[in-house]
Amino acid sequence: MHKYANFVLVLFLVTTGQEAHTQQSEATLRLLERNEMFEPVIIEVAENVYTAIGYQVTANTMIVGDDGAIIIDPGHQAEAARQVRAEFSRISDLPVKAIIYTHGHADHVNGAVAFYEPESGTEVWARSNYWSEANRTAEAGLVGGVRPSATQGFDLLPEQKISVGIAIPPARPPAGSNQVDGVGAQVQPVRIDPTHMFSEERITLEISGIRLELVAAPGETADQLYAWLPEQRVVFAGDNFYQSWPNVYPLRGTARRSIRDWISSLDSMVQENPLHVVGGHTTPMLGNAAEVLTNYRDAMQWVLDRTIEGAKKYMTPDELVDYAALPPHLAELDYLAGYYGSVWGTVRDIYAQDLGWFDGDPLNLHRESPLRQSERMAALVGGVEALWAKAQNAMMTNDPLGAAQLAQHVMRLRPDSPEPRFLMADALDVIGEQTFNAPARNYTLSSANRIRAEAEDLE
Ligand SMILES: [Zn+2]
Repeated sequence: MHKYANFVLVLFLVTTGQEAHTQQSEATLRLLERNEMFEPVIIEVAENVYTAIGYQVTANTMIVGDDGAIIIDPGHQAEAARQVRAEFSRISDLPVKAIIYTHGHADHVNGAVAFYEPESGTEVWARSNYWSEANRTAEAGLVGGVRPSATQGFDLLPEQKISVGIAIPPARPPAGSNQVDGVGAQVQPVRIDPTHMFSEERITLEISGIRLELVAAPGETADQLYAWLPEQRVVFAGDNFYQSWPNVYPLRGTARRSIRDWISSLDSMVQENPLHVVGGHTTPMLGNAAEVLTNYRDAMQWVLDRTIEGAKKYMTPDELVDYAALPPHLAELDYLAGYYGSVWGTVRDIYAQDLGWFDGDPLNLHRESPLRQSERMAALVGGVEALWAKAQNAMMTNDPLGAAQLAQHVMRLRPDSPEPRFLMADALDVIGEQTFNAPARNYTLSSANRIRAEAEDLE
């Protein structure tokens, strides 16, 4: 850390009189506490239904039938998936008759090689539009780039890398891999393509005495499905549910996700009247699935309705973020907290998808260049030197966001000076450490590291 961040830290300790180990923000402590959920464990969800948590970034399920088993979402990586298989085989070593992909994201698919047994005739099931999101990203020419790794935190220092919100912090993918479409997944593994695809709204499989329904459920991706086990009343939601506010807009940037489809798919799951729900990530919710999915659906509907209502009153996205905040009875639910997705990101995304980039503010029809804006700011406060003094003062008085905003102006006005960049990096370190939403936190800290490296190059 550079000198400013240390100064703020010392100030904090002096004023609070607390021990050094209590420096971590509430956000950091809550994320660290969340990681306890990912201690590797096999959970018995219902009779003959077992879900592995913490071995991989995703939840992986085995359903045991008369003479074979079904695997739902084999996970993200062959070696980790083999560990899961070894644990499952202590419960049942019957052959794998079917693998179900809830959707085409690498973190749900790439572990299939550990379960696939062509000699046992393993059927691999997915919807007919399987892999739609990655295909769209490729068509747009957007494969690659730094946003996926910056939001998942792959390049962070070990002590900065504490969370991706809904999974254990993943290891960095090997050099040259093209991580674009999943939590910590690699893109060029041995991938098992579906052997069976369906285009109907709902199909019923009968495998080894297990009756399993697969239902089209567009939401987190267009190719999403949920699996429904009527006998045990378990719904496997894929990534349309996990214990976090849903990732309606992924900061890494990806194909547009329809919140309206997502709400409607949640409603279909509620109509099944499930007892248990196994999400794509995080631990299953047992015994209260109908209530949980109802709250999840209603919370998304609330944010959608408030955003549209406010937009019609000429509110800008910045104003709508407050206007669409969840009511207290939903806001207090831990499984709706912004570990991974965020309400603020969702509001902005609804606005952007429905109304486009123009936020209704007439001044935004007359934007000036960033440099021109910074020149105006400097003139207002009496010159660049005064602006720089105010930036430093903001940092010293524990206003890191104010410091970052002012330092950014100085960075533009003095592009060759390392000092404003160091201040910016230190301010972003503090802001990031206090940020609860894991992708936003990781992006902020990754940006701090990048800007600090730029400053060091200028020295
Ligand atoms: Zn996932």
